[in-house]
Amino acid sequence: MSKDRSFFCRLGLIVCLFLFIECVTSPIKNTPLKEENHILSWNKREAETIKILTDLIRIKSVRGNEKQVAEYIRSIFEKEGIKTKLISEPGFPDRVNLIAELEPNVPSSEKGLILGNHLDVVEADPKEWEEDPFAGTIKEGRIHGRGALDCKGLIVMQIISFLELKRSAVPLKRKVMFLSMADEESGSERGARFLLKVHPELFKGYGYMLNEGSFGTKDVAIPGSTIFNIQYAEKGNLWLNVKAKGDQGHGSTPSQNYPSLRLLKFLTEVLEYDTEIRISEETQGFFYQLGSISSFPKSFILKNSNIPVLRRLLYGPIRASRQLSAITRNTKSVSGLKTEEGKGHNVLSSLAEAKLDVRLLPGFDPLEYLKEIRKIAEKYEVEVEPASTVTSDKSKLDSILFQTIASVATRKIPGSVAAPFISPGKTDNAYFRQIGMECYGLIPVLLSEKELAMLHAKNESISLENVQLGTQIIFEILYQMN
Ligand SMILES: [Zn+2]
Repeated sequence: MSKDRSFFCRLGLIVCLFLFIECVTSPIKNTPLKEENHILSWNKREAETIKILTDLIRIKSVRGNEKQVAEYIRSIFEKEGIKTKLISEPGFPDRVNLIAELEPNVPSSEKGLILGNHLDVVEADPKEWEEDPFAGTIKEGRIHGRGALDCKGLIVMQIISFLELKRSAVPLKRKVMFLSMADEESGSERGARFLLKVHPELFKGYGYMLNEGSFGTKDVAIPGSTIFNIQYAEKGNLWLNVKAKGDQGHGSTPSQNYPSLRLLKFLTEVLEYDTEIRISEETQGFFYQLGSISSFPKSFILKNSNIPVLRRLLYGPIRASRQLSAITRNTKSVSGLKTEEGKGHNVLSSLAEAKLDVRLLPGFDPLEYLKEIRKIAEKYEVEVEPASTVTSDKSKLDSILFQTIASVATRKIPGSVAAPFISPGKTDNAYFRQIGMECYGLIPVLLSEKELAMLHAKNESISLENVQLGTQIIFEILYQMN
């Protein structure tokens, strides 16, 4: 065969291959939106917004004291004639959850929408910060303090949007709930989990939630890109306690299978087990959106990650990125190691223990995965007990709320894209998805790499520009959903 003919044969084969493989399409459909509203006047609301956020930061609610924050929010709502309920688990009077509702005023059978947030924050050591983390200082166009991003910033955006619905008497075809929850940072036991277990009736008639879970980013995934990452799914958790037991021995004459050695061998094999990269249909949607703002040939590869030959080209960048690895693989990390090492260098401990944090992609059952890990454990005579198992969860990409969030945000920032995002960690969305609610996580601000690094870290702050952007997008979403 001549060189030319062989080239055209190969090209023909590739074309045939493409015809047989269904193309990935954008997960964002063209949702018809009402014309952009100008009801919320930033000139009128800016001072109020800034005051509320600085006040919220000044109320210390480090893994507790949610009551004081809830009472502050209650006072704002009650001044405007909006009733609130404060609910706490018996025996935990400080761990308060707050609920306020606006009833629909247009007859319709549409499901209600919840604005979800949490009142607690994580620790902040003032010695490490440039500004006092609990002073709400405004400097150089930014509000500084713990919670400025996670998630008191979101709370103020939701408060102002919720109030505006009432103040402007926007016609509502759905009921809208403002829901502040306690205890999100420490496992949600006194917050989301308590509310859903003991008061599920509160959420009757609601079908959608907009909560934290992700952010918009600027210049992060691709230089020059603006991406609204909308969290639609969360990975599952499988937390394990591991124990290797045996006889105590002398360090100078080790056997082949003393407990610490067996534990190490077991952990090594578990870490090497199932490291496959998996690009699910939804992750293909995420890559497709990245492709839509990349240049050729990157754009072609990203948009066609369902085609095995092209998908393989993504493996290098995925392996090089912690974030991309986490959304395409079942990860395992050793989060604890312990022996009776206090006994001295020459004593082989009779007990070696470890903690494993396993995070599973949607489609993997934690208990089935545990069986596979136990098969490895058997080889090394190691005991494995689950400390916590939470199945992964996901909401639909074709729901009205997902599509509205995407369309509103990208219309607001021309040149931006929205992308479905699976989060490796847990938020309260996980618990509400379990009762069938369509939940999405997005604090609709645009953060740089540097600002993303402030989360749960020192010098957390939010720009006034982002406070405005987030408030306007959230109000617009509410307006479009009604
Ligand atoms: Zn948070």
